[in-house]
Amino acid sequence: MSEARVEPTQRVTVRAPAKINLHLGVGARRPDGMHPLATIYQAVGLYDDVTVTDAPAWSVGLTAPIDGVPLDEENIAIRAGRALVAHHGLDLAARITIAKGIPVMGGMAGGSADAAATLLALDRLWDLQTSDEDLLRIAGELGSDVPFALVGGTALGTGRGEVVTPIADNTSVWWVVVLSDEGLSTPAVYQHFDQVTPDAAAEPPVPQALVAALADGYTDEVGALLANDLWPAARDLRPDLVDVEDQLRLLAPDGVLLSGSGPTLLMLHEDVEEARVAVADLRERGFRCTIAPGPVAGAHVVTYA
Ligand code: ATP
Repeated sequence: MSEARVEPTQRVTVRAPAKINLHLGVGARRPDGMHPLATIYQAVGLYDDVTVTDAPAWSVGLTAPIDGVPLDEENIAIRAGRALVAHHGLDLAARITIAKGIPVMGGMAGGSADAAATLLALDRLWDLQTSDEDLLRIAGELGSDVPFALVGGTALGTGRGEVVTPIADNTSVWWVVVLSDEGLSTPAVYQHFDQVTPDAAAEPPVPQALVAALADGYTDEVGALLANDLWPAARDLRPDLVDVEDQLRLLAPDGVLLSGSGPTLLMLHEDVEEARVAVADLRERGFRCTIAPGPVAGAHVVTYA
């Protein structure tokens, strides 16, 4: 009897989550231009799906057109692909197709999710067997938030955010995600942070009380401890966010947070029905919003064909 022929893998799709920062402690700008961070990342249930197929040259496309996403070598997904093949000393290329579910320029690290998804998808497509250590290192060179998109869950981020240590999180929450029609540039927010925070610490402290509240599963305490050092800078650049924040605080006095460098705002709920009611209420008032659970898994294969 002849053995069944095994076809090589043709197409891999990896799903990668958005991130939020339950705590974003930002230190003084380093000589290399980066900022030291002490952050608690949480992966939340908004996703980009990245599909890769072998191709004679690198290219990237979107399943639906979206302003602000480059479709050339500037796209971080192509940079990720090139970094992976360079690491292995190979001369390969791929077609990368991105289905975006993560808001663009929303402070939820959508580009970083695409980079992480591309690394994992190409590793599987070509069976490169890249070690976790190497994948995380390549991810960290691509961007500060890329390693966390691989790891997911809830994690402490140090260094410039690229040193990721998973932590215990016994909460299970629902985030009301309030989107903004206009994006906010991350570099612009950090530059303004430098101006309005001349006394920033050299090394921001790890938020131990929040780490303990997450391990204990105390959602109320987590809500009271949410913090983001970029908030004053983002408010200055986007004064319209102050009114949105005020309206959210009427619904949830604790538990309102700016996502990363903004402009997306978040509202914490322990109960999904409460979150649904809040979304319906906000939509009636003209806000664009959705619900995302947290924490969720990091980048993972969803189709392997
Ligand atoms: P961060 O907070 O990580 O800086 P963000 O979530 O605010 O990011 P992104 O959606 O990641 O914003 O986009 C940041 C910039 O990266 C955009 O200006 C966009 O031009 C560029 N970019 C490059 N590749 C991508 C990609 N695959 N998806 C989205 N943006 C991308």
